[in-house]
Amino acid sequence: MRVIIIGGGIAGLGAAYKVRRAADVGHDVSFSLVERDDRLGGKIWTDISPDPDGGRYIADGGSDSFLTDKTAVHRVAKLLGVFDEECGTIEENKRTFIVKDGRLVEMPDGMMMFAPTKLLPLATSKLYSWPAKFRMAFDLVLPRKVRWAEGETAQDHDETLESLVVRRLGREALDRLAEPLSAGVNGDEASEMSVAGRYPMLLEMEQKHGSLVRGFLAQRTRVEEMKKKYPPKPGAKRRTFFSSFNEGLQFICDRMADAAGREHIRTGVGATAIERSGEGWRVTLSTGEVLDGDAVIVATEVWAAAELLRATDGAIADLLATIPSSSCATALLAFDESDCPFDKRWHGILTPAVERRPLTGVSLTSSKWPDRAPEGRVLLRGFLGGPRDQAVLEQGDEALLELARTQMVELIGIASDARPRYARLFRWEKGMPQYTLGHLDRVDEIERLETGVRGLALAGNAYRGVGVPNALESGERAVTKVLAEAGIILSEDATEERRVY
Ligand SMILES: Cc1cc2nc3c(=O)[nH]c(=O)nc-3n(C[C@H](O)[C@H](O)[C@H](O)COP(=O)(O)OP(=O)(O)OC[C@H]3O[C@@H](n4cnc5c(N)ncnc54)[C@H](O)[C@@H]3O)c2cc1C
Repeated sequence: MRVIIIGGGIAGLGAAYKVRRAADVGHDVSFSLVERDDRLGGKIWTDISPDPDGGRYIADGGSDSFLTDKTAVHRVAKLLGVFDEECGTIEENKRTFIVKDGRLVEMPDGMMMFAPTKLLPLATSKLYSWPAKFRMAFDLVLPRKVRWAEGETAQDHDETLESLVVRRLGREALDRLAEPLSAGVNGDEASEMSVAGRYPMLLEMEQKHGSLVRGFLAQRTRVEEMKKKYPPKPGAKRRTFFSSFNEGLQFICDRMADAAGREHIRTGVGATAIERSGEGWRVTLSTGEVLDGDAVIVATEVWAAAELLRATDGAIADLLATIPSSSCATALLAFDESDCPFDKRWHGILTPAVERRPLTGVSLTSSKWPDRAPEGRVLLRGFLGGPRDQAVLEQGDEALLELARTQMVELIGIASDARPRYARLFRWEKGMPQYTLGHLDRVDEIERLETGVRGLALAGNAYRGVGVPNALESGERAVTKVLAEAGIILSEDATEERRVY
């Protein structure tokens, strides 16, 4: 059985590596993967560049990390034998600042997402006004919006993040933290973001605890109990909330491509059409060649999937076209340490939309991760664009790098005449799918239609999770579907064998 995989991001590579594992345990399966760009990795792109004075930069232009709670990346890293290459964030520097009236205000201790779980840090914080603090406390006594009937889930009671946060915690809680978090982490507009699609546990918390603050408090207590029950083994690596790899996040994509077999992978070649061919599928390539296969996995961005499927399955294509995507860019800039006379013990800055700044956030990469910049250099990563400001991306690369630099000078205190030692702009055109209100209903319908089409599977970040582990798992699930349709059930999908981590 031959599987054609379109797209060489982590979803497509996850699919390829899974087909390879199936072949390795004796199934008669093979794959061909085509990637339109001249590189693999998609939204995961690590640039490793030397500094003329020695040392090197390890700069992630797209995703720089994955949530360690989600196990897919660990599991694959273990299968590949590279688990020891994972690296955590530098916990000593784990502080986040929010821009308020052009200045940096530290996020109060005890904030979980955007809900306070510690009284004193909230009371003394300058991030919120006093009325806003009282309004947040009101969450403890506000009744639920509605009580779910037996069997109902968050999906049945979807609402936007703006609606939920304003309802429970007040407008300032939205404007000062929830909005910049959703823009910074998910590239989402709070006024449109589906809570059921992104963070169903928020709606579940309201049901179970009658309050977001109480829900987060219970979560904090659970985490603290787990830490006590399972203290880190002596000498073991400390587990952090986010993780990456010593050589940057692209490392895992490269290792998957190696293990899957690069002889089956082509870059710089896009798929231009998909059609049925007898019992199987035919994919036309940008070179004019055709590939014939028994199954096709479409692991492209959602808008590209909609275009590819238009002629074959208009109903799926129409639904895919309803999932919007936003564009953004990241500006990676490194400066001499002497030009950076500020406290560097922090990981990030978030800029709320109400601040009306073109820079939506900053990561202090060289303080967040070990060995990302040479000695004596400070590496930063600024975010531009996103749904709140698509127009800024019309500027050229040099202009955007300079815009990021001047914003960093204003906000962080980099010397105004500091020239970057390393500068690179990464553009992510329609790179982030947005999960808008009702997202899960649309995905259910897409999956229902997909189930009825033998040999076709969709994968990627647009459906059930935008994070790297979700995208990886979606590629694996796509393989499970098309192989199962051909009567191939993989032993590694049995529960016991999946518990390798
Ligand atoms: C700036 C940024 C920061 C992020 N930060 C994080 C983070 O810190 N943590 C996290 O978990 N997630 C993060 N994400 C999200 C995460 O990186 C992505 O959701 C994930 O990498 C998507 O993987 P994918 O394989 O689904 O899609 P993609 O990586 O988009 O891959 C799809 C591939 O398909 C190819 N393609 C498209 N059309 C065709 C065609 N016709 N023929 C052949 N190939 C085609 C594309 O060129 C692309 O390479 C971030 C994303 C961005 C943009």
